[in-house]
Amino acid sequence: MSTPQIIPPGSTIGILGGGQLGRMTALAAARLGYRCLVYAPDEHSIAGDVAAGYVRGDYDDTDALARFARRVDVITYEFENVPEAAVVACLEHKPVRPGVTPIHVAQHRLREKQFFATLGIGTADYQPVRNEAELAAATALPGILKTCREGYDGKGQARVHDRASLEAAWERLGRRECILEALVDFRCEVSAIVARGLDGAMRCFPIGLNDHRDGILHTTTVPADLAAETLAMAERFGLALAQGLDLVGLVALEMFVTQDGTVLANEMAPRPHNSGHWTIDACATSQFEQLVRAICGLPLGPVDVTAPSRMENLIGEEATD
Ligand code: AMP
Repeated sequence: MSTPQIIPPGSTIGILGGGQLGRMTALAAARLGYRCLVYAPDEHSIAGDVAAGYVRGDYDDTDALARFARRVDVITYEFENVPEAAVVACLEHKPVRPGVTPIHVAQHRLREKQFFATLGIGTADYQPVRNEAELAAATALPGILKTCREGYDGKGQARVHDRASLEAAWERLGRRECILEALVDFRCEVSAIVARGLDGAMRCFPIGLNDHRDGILHTTTVPADLAAETLAMAERFGLALAQGLDLVGLVALEMFVTQDGTVLANEMAPRPHNSGHWTIDACATSQFEQLVRAICGLPLGPVDVTAPSRMENLIGEEATD
């Protein structure tokens, strides 16, 4: 790929994935003067509804991906489980921002934890559980056994209290590659959403205080009523991650705040994040506009809070009740 290009307004952004985050990205892009072309396997896409065009194709259909890539100027993805091969196929034709490394890291919990460690980002104690020997050697109890791949929002994981429940849970999870994470006695959960531009400039949105129900984000409150040092540590981790990934785009880092105010990273997502929806109404720049700015090489926007806010995450029918 030649030197990083600026993608001027009037250009077309390709979005891999057809869900709500793609939809909100396409709306923000339109306001900045960009067209979006959405690529997803589904017959109907809510992102496609608000985009200039929709390409229906499977993520392993390299011909369809190539046709899609030729019609756009830059490509992003709206979910971190987009197959790596699909991103690689797109990269042969057009820049993909944030690129392959962020999904390579985010799609595998063990790799993600190891990556955090290289950047000095603390995590809960953990051990890999990929075979009988590692199962026998795992000590992080009580803990949560999580599959390395395809787990999110509490799926693909089980709380375990002792060796017997650990062994039973590993069987139930299909003896897949897992990690055992020590249970964190956290005071609260927070997230940092960081944008990094084509020029390496970074902006961290104000830290969100998150409340989860049944493993799913329920509310996000900003400003977070936490000690300045705790907020600074969360921001520092977010910035270190964006820098470490050499990211062009957005990355969200979900973290625990322990009883003594220490911050421990849980997981990352290199895309807009549900805990950042408050930025649409209560921040000088929304996370979606910031993503478009970053991947198109525009200057990043300011991230000042314009009003205190509390976002409630409505899922499925809750939105119409
Ligand atoms: P995850 O699927 O890793 O995002 O986890 C979903 C939610 O489960 C988190 O937001 C926490 O509320 C909880 N959780 C995950 N890992 C741990 C842990 N090691 N200790 C305590 N709670 C956890």
